[in-house]
Amino acid sequence: MENSKEMRGWLDNLGLDHPLVIAGPCSAETEEQVLKIAHDLKDTDVTYLRAGIWKPRTRPGNFEGVGALGLKWLQKAKEETGMLTATEVANAAHVKLALEHDIDLLWIGARSTVSPFIVQEIADALKGTDKVVLVKNPVNPDLSLWLGGIERLYSSDIKKLGVIHRGFSTYEKTKYRNIPEWQLAIELQNKFPDLPLICDPSHITGKRDMIFDVAQTALDLNFDGLMIETHNDPDNAWSDAAQQVTPDTLVQIMKDLKIRKESD
Ligand code: PEP
Ligand code: MN
Repeated sequence: MENSKEMRGWLDNLGLDHPLVIAGPCSAETEEQVLKIAHDLKDTDVTYLRAGIWKPRTRPGNFEGVGALGLKWLQKAKEETGMLTATEVANAAHVKLALEHDIDLLWIGARSTVSPFIVQEIADALKGTDKVVLVKNPVNPDLSLWLGGIERLYSSDIKKLGVIHRGFSTYEKTKYRNIPEWQLAIELQNKFPDLPLICDPSHITGKRDMIFDVAQTALDLNFDGLMIETHNDPDNAWSDAAQQVTPDTLVQIMKDLKIRKESD
């Protein structure tokens, strides 16, 4: 897996003059909600509209996602706005459905990256795909598991790749929902300098008013992009309410961030 240049072709081809932004709700809730958010984001710096369809919840009894129905809403959002679409897949059945609905970017969530069998199942189901596939860091601070996910996908002939840094669980109580442990992302960046590295400040912080600072730190560390959970009515979101921002706030965050240029 030496050729990380090849893995970033999909990002370079977008020709962006700002960091990549993936934004949208933690969960797809209703068709109206997905379409409203898509329309609110379509003329911003956001390239990919994200929405969780299958939600891996730590404990049962919480909202577990609308399922395949939500893929139709994402497709409709793409038709209406021209935005590219992104969702999480956690097994081979999810992959099959997401590919059938032409979702443009799939990511492996933190709770799946910890399981080599699951990652391998997803890699096998995606074999040779030309979709973009991103691997979130595992919930525990283990760089090998994170890299293992990328290696399994690469070996499955998937070449449009990248990683998402969403922080790590810790026993200690800190101001973060998931502590950043930036040094792990930096180590990964040093090993594979061309592999697209995206920060998810929403899941790192768990709180919307901390998102800006974490996003700025990521850009200062030369991250390639951001995934920020964005909802039309964050306080009433069906999952991760405290960390979601409105489309207007997202636009303001992007405006206020200092973006490093190659020449800096
Ligand atoms: C998500 O992106 O909504 C999600 C469940 O994230 P993570 O896998 O990072 O917990
Ligand atoms: Mn979430």
